Amino acid sequence: MTPHGGGDLRTVEEHLKLVLQRIAPPDPIELALLDAQGLLSAEEVVAAAPLPGFDNSAMDGYAVRSEDVAGASAEQPAVLPVVGDIAAGSRVPTGIGRGMCVRIMTGAPMPAGADAVVPVEWTDGGVARVSIDRPPAPGAYVRRTGEDVQAGDTAIGLGAPIGPAQVGLLAAVGRERVLVRPRPRVVVVSTGSELVDVGQRPGPGELIDANSYLLAAASRDAGAEVYRAGIVPDDRRALLEVLEAQANRADLLVTSGGVSMGAYDVVKDALRDLGTMEFVRVAMQPGMPQGFGTLGDPGTPVFCLPGNPVSALVSFEVFVRPAIRLMLGKRRLFRRSVTASALEPMESPAGRRQYRRGLLHREESGGYCVRPVGGPGSHLLAALAQANCLIVIDAAVTVVPAGDQVTVLPLLLSSA
Ligand code: AMP
Ligand code: MG
Repeated sequence: MTPHGGGDLRTVEEHLKLVLQRIAPPDPIELALLDAQGLLSAEEVVAAAPLPGFDNSAMDGYAVRSEDVAGASAEQPAVLPVVGDIAAGSRVPTGIGRGMCVRIMTGAPMPAGADAVVPVEWTDGGVARVSIDRPPAPGAYVRRTGEDVQAGDTAIGLGAPIGPAQVGLLAAVGRERVLVRPRPRVVVVSTGSELVDVGQRPGPGELIDANSYLLAAASRDAGAEVYRAGIVPDDRRALLEVLEAQANRADLLVTSGGVSMGAYDVVKDALRDLGTMEFVRVAMQPGMPQGFGTLGDPGTPVFCLPGNPVSALVSFEVFVRPAIRLMLGKRRLFRRSVTASALEPMESPAGRRQYRRGLLHREESGGYCVRPVGGPGSHLLAALAQANCLIVIDAAVTVVPAGDQVTVLPLLLSSA
């Protein structure tokens, strides 16, 4: 472990491992169906009743006894009297006798005695009598009770992701609410006496707080429910007050700024003596200074990220996003990387893993190529907004010649 500031660097993997060890998912909660979308089920949902709940027609047509029309052909159609009409939603029990049929609509309950449906396309569409020119097999176009789900079947397994189809299935089996792994509540705080909120005009030496918005958006993108606690000046008391108040209502706190070596790096100054927080240097660029620990009781995890917007977002990607996904109960914590051919040479500091912003393209051949955008400067927000990926250059590599293969993390931050 590294004391405040100098000394050894921790690798990204070491820091990530220590951080993730201290993250636990919040307890499951019961949510209304639509609020469960995008979450993982925290229960096994067992169907109480079968689906379909009754035998019904799969087509608009005629419900028949298949034996009555077994020999039907275009040359010698079977002609049956139509003794009724059954619409979807019909609640009246019906039945047919030998040599009869009823007109039936898709989803309407099968009449007793009928064992097949002749689609209207195989008939002349008659209303009083119908002429049928193809024989249906027994059971044709009948949806059987329970052929989709039997009573007692597992509809949704424990840990299953709930997407649109699962929401539909839960509704179909009669579940209004479902126990899920909830979205962690993430509170984002920007620190810095130079910051003003968007909508205010920055005075001399001031700038608009981008990070609380950037980190709130990234938290939401990762699946969290997010709150901005706004801007806190570089003042120890003010910071502790805000963080202590927020720790009670958050599952995770994220601060930006105030963790480097400056004279007013108040986050580090205020928190490092609490004993539950540590401030370290991680062998990465950007994002070298990192703070992590817990606040309050039971401990709410706190990530203290550096203040440059690019450093903040890269730190978020590398450490906070996996933590949020862990809290959501997701099995895959990390973005899938791809390998791409570098279109331009890049340099990288020795001993630090560099995360460069890049534009990733798919070539016609199916492979990927990537071009760095903007310089390595971690204040370059516009280049960050143009980028669609991070190019990861390993700590041991100092020069990437054009044409070399590099590891790329597609971000897709602008996709949703
Ligand atoms: P710090 O990590 O507090 O030393 O800040 C590093 C740099 O990032 C400084 O130039 C800050 O002005 C800038 N910065 C800090 N917080 C923010 C923020 N919320 N939005 C935009 N820039 C910021
Ligand atoms: Mg600052």
